[in-house]
Amino acid sequence: MNTENRWDMGSLLRDTGIGMPASGEAKMINMNKLGINGEMRLREPMSKHTSWRAGGCAERYYIPADLRDLAVFLRDLPTDEPVYVVGLGSNLLVRDGGLRGTVVAVHAQLEELQLIEHNGSNGLIYAGAGIACAKIARFAAKHRLADAEFLAGIPGTVGGALAMNAGCFGAETWQVVERVQIIDRSGNVFIRQPDDYEVGYRSIKLRQSPIVTAKETEWFAGGYFRLPCGDQTESRQKIKRLLARRIASQPLNQPNAGSVFRNPPGDYEARLIEACGLKGLSIGGAMVSGKHANFIVNTGNATATDIEALIMLVQNRVEQKTGIELIQEVRVIGDAGRQS
Ligand SMILES: Cc1cc2nc3c(=O)[nH]c(=O)nc-3n(C[C@H](O)[C@H](O)[C@H](O)COP(=O)(O)OP(=O)(O)OC[C@H]3O[C@@H](n4cnc5c(N)ncnc54)[C@H](O)[C@@H]3O)c2cc1C
Repeated sequence: MNTENRWDMGSLLRDTGIGMPASGEAKMINMNKLGINGEMRLREPMSKHTSWRAGGCAERYYIPADLRDLAVFLRDLPTDEPVYVVGLGSNLLVRDGGLRGTVVAVHAQLEELQLIEHNGSNGLIYAGAGIACAKIARFAAKHRLADAEFLAGIPGTVGGALAMNAGCFGAETWQVVERVQIIDRSGNVFIRQPDDYEVGYRSIKLRQSPIVTAKETEWFAGGYFRLPCGDQTESRQKIKRLLARRIASQPLNQPNAGSVFRNPPGDYEARLIEACGLKGLSIGGAMVSGKHANFIVNTGNATATDIEALIMLVQNRVEQKTGIELIQEVRVIGDAGRQS
């Protein structure tokens, strides 16, 4: 561990913003003198980085130059600094009071995409955590590999898809994972196997956390996907069909975060919410979509407070009418309230 750099990083962050209330102007700071090449921004509005286009600022927002740079950054970051890794923010609501600590944005940075092997019956693809899921779907099709088509319609990153076990139309991310590449809070990069996780519907959990703590201590740096051989034309047609179904059924012209609630076994949340007469229900600028009842859209000026209040209202109304408790799929983070 480089304790000298850790101390330097601590004082650099303190001098430029650590402990400051998340208010005032956004600002960028130079990390080069610590041998770190990424970009550090202070008070970065997370509304710019979440598909709901709402919410408060991250106290600090770090965009690593690459995986090595991220490793050095994490290693030298003061150990008490909270870290939150995000992808494309397509499943995320940051409360209006903002987020304390450092957000690490890996989208468009950890972007390696490689065909590792192709043996006539199947192939192995490595994708960095920052790659958009749609790119893997197209890359697999190009290399005559099947079963990645479903990823074309998921507007997140590989890291987000691994963290959420994202899926649709009967397929899920972890069905095609052979192994994952991890980066931990000390900057170590290593491999984990699927057996290390309890994989569930839109959730995954490390079976045995190395350290028992409420805070996250490791993240996905990349994934290795094992896919059977397929037909390029068929895969491309399947992708087109899946995208057309989404365009027809989802309010893609308004900011949203996809399905707000998980589907209960054997049923669909959208059906339940619609049956309770909640389509069009709104709070401030947040509204239950008229096109897809499990989507909450930002009609223009929604705050994160509006969106969260509407999520809770829908939950309460459905429970009152049906006795079914809706479970949130979207992740809500940060402090309540308002930033100045
Ligand atoms: C229009 C629309 C349609 C959608 N359709 C679907 C769908 O069909 N199926 C589906 O499953 N989802 C769907 N989603 C939700 C969303 O796209 C997925 O959950 C996606 O996997 C989130 O990826 P992300 O990169 O945006 O993650 P983010 O929203 O940035 O983060 C989501 C969570 O993952 C964690 N995370 C992100 N990157 C990493 C990493 N590298 N390591 C560890 N943790 C990480 C974050 O900390 C956070 O807790 C949809 C969303 C929208 C807006």
